[in-house]
Formats: sequence, structure tokens, C-alpha cells
Amino acid sequence: MTPTTPLEMLRTPRELQRWSERRRAAGLTVGLVPTMGALHAGHLSLIRRAVAECDRAVVSIFVNPAQFGPHEDLGRYPRRLESDVEMSAKVGVAAAFVPSAQAMYAVHASTTIHVGGRLTAVLEGAARPGHFDGVALVVAKLLIASRPDRVYFGQKDAQQCAVVARLLDDLDFGSRLVICPVVRDGDGLALSSRNAFLSGPQRSQALAIPRGLGAALRLFSQGERGSDQLAAAVTDELSRAVGLDVDYVAVVDPADFEPVAQAGVKTQIVVAAKMAETRLIDAVRLGVDVPPLVTSVGEGERTGTAGALE
Ligand code: AMP
Repeated sequence: MTPTTPLEMLRTPRELQRWSERRRAAGLTVGLVPTMGALHAGHLSLIRRAVAECDRAVVSIFVNPAQFGPHEDLGRYPRRLESDVEMSAKVGVAAAFVPSAQAMYAVHASTTIHVGGRLTAVLEGAARPGHFDGVALVVAKLLIASRPDRVYFGQKDAQQCAVVARLLDDLDFGSRLVICPVVRDGDGLALSSRNAFLSGPQRSQALAIPRGLGAALRLFSQGERGSDQLAAAVTDELSRAVGLDVDYVAVVDPADFEPVAQAGVKTQIVVAAKMAETRLIDAVRLGVDVPPLVTSVGEGERTGTAGALE
């Protein structure tokens, strides 16, 4: 077995800045993958792509308090730093940025970043007030420190991708945004660090989400373009799930998250629902993603496979 090259551990924004400056001065390209840790195959798909496309990849692992509301799950969010670092090293990551909350946010820190407009006010923005301000702040800090050539985000957090795209553009960061397809577990559920909170029966009920999104994808491929009809296909499935509290099902334009009446290729369907205390989100791109293969828990292997036509 070849020993894994140890990665560099960076603990302050200044250390990240120095690390990245040196690489860029040597003519190397830098890829950044921001995460909150508890890494799974979804994160790894972003990380592997960064390693493949950039000379050096840096993964940030930081459970960002600024993006959690006062009644959200910051306290119980899973933390597995040691295995995260090990997994990252194994796939060729050059450095892990693992700051403490104090290293990221000084006591006197008072600068905020707000991406304005409807994009941050609707759906996730409405359900989680202040969430996107916290995301924008941490992403801006990471980009300023590392100045990456490319920064990687997952399509599962579709609205976050649109917010980050706006932030990059508005503030002329110059980093290229790479959006990676949703990676699903073998049963069809989109991988998420929060899935660990689901019991077996809760998880089987939650499969209504990928099932519903799959039904809409199939309807679209049969020619249906009406957003109401496509949304109804999702809602139908969700309404059959016991204990699933649906927050929204929306058919939106991927750039501004405006609702569309007639769907087209790349229109997205986004879903948020709560199973007990666990909030689950998912998204598909019409005409791009294949319907997720949904099986009951226990059937088949959970492999974590991506589901895109590309
Ligand atoms: P998080 O640690 O949840 O903040 O996620 C870090 C990054 O990984 C975000 O850009 C997420 O969108 C992405 N990500 C999380 N889960 C998945 C998944 N199942 N498929 C693809 N990307 C994901």
C-alpha cells in the first residue's frame, strides 16, 4: 500500500493566505472546496474534481456558526475532523483549512455581507432568515484568503449555488464556480451529513423526496412543461410520506430562483421538508438529471452514485 501524503493543516485565515500565495507564486492553480465536514461521497465528488482539475486542492472544514439560526442544529451538527482529514489526504488534497470559530470571527468582527434581492429572500432564505448572510460571509472570507482559481459547490444546495454565483460576480472575485451534480445514496436519498439523524423508518419515508423528484423528471421527459403539473407530481409523493413536513416544492429558474410557469431544460425543482427535527433539501435539473433509482432501506448497496445525464 502506498502511504498517503500528509496534507498541510492550516488553522487561521492568515495561514491559508500564505499557503495559497506560495502556490500561486509558483505558478500552480488552486482549487477550494468549502465544507462543514462529516465528509461523505457527496463532498468527495467535489474534492476529487478539485484534485483532478487543479494543481493543488484545499478543503475547508468549518461548521460555520454564522449560517445557523438560533434554533437550528449547530450544537448537534456532526463533527468528525480526524476522519475528514484522513479521507481528504487519501484522495490527494494538499491542505485542509480547519479554523476554530475564534480564528474566523474575532470578538470585535462587525462586517456583514448581504446578497440582496429576492434570491436570498425566498425558499431557503425565507425558511432560514440570515442563513445566506452567514454563507456569503464565510465564502467571501475563504475566497479572500485563498484566492482560488476554482471553487467547488454541490447542486444539492441549489439556491446556495445561485447565491455564491451572484457573490462571485458582484464582488469580482475572479474565481471560477464549479457546480457538481447531486450524489445520492444507493436508496436514492441525497447524501447529507444530516442523514445520520434519521432513524430507519424515517429514512424510508424520506425516500418520497427522490421518488417525487423522479416522477417530475419522468413527466418532463414525456413532454410535460407546466410547472404546476410538475410540482404536483412531487407533492403527490411527498403527501404519502408519514411524518414528512413539507416546507416547499418550487419550480424555478436556476440563476435567480424566480418561479417559472413553463419549465425548460435546466429549470430546477427544489424541495425542502422536515422529518422530525431533521431538515432535508434536494434538487433536480429538468432535462439534465436522470430520475433517481429509489429502493427501500436495506435493499441493495448504498453506494453513493451521481445521477446526471452529463
Ligand atoms: P456542507 O458540508 O453540507 O456545507 O456541504 C459542502 C459542499 O458539499 C456544498 O457545496 C454542498 O452542496 C456539497 N454537497 C453536500 N452534499 C452533497 C451531495 N449529496 N451531492 C453533491 N454535493 C453535495
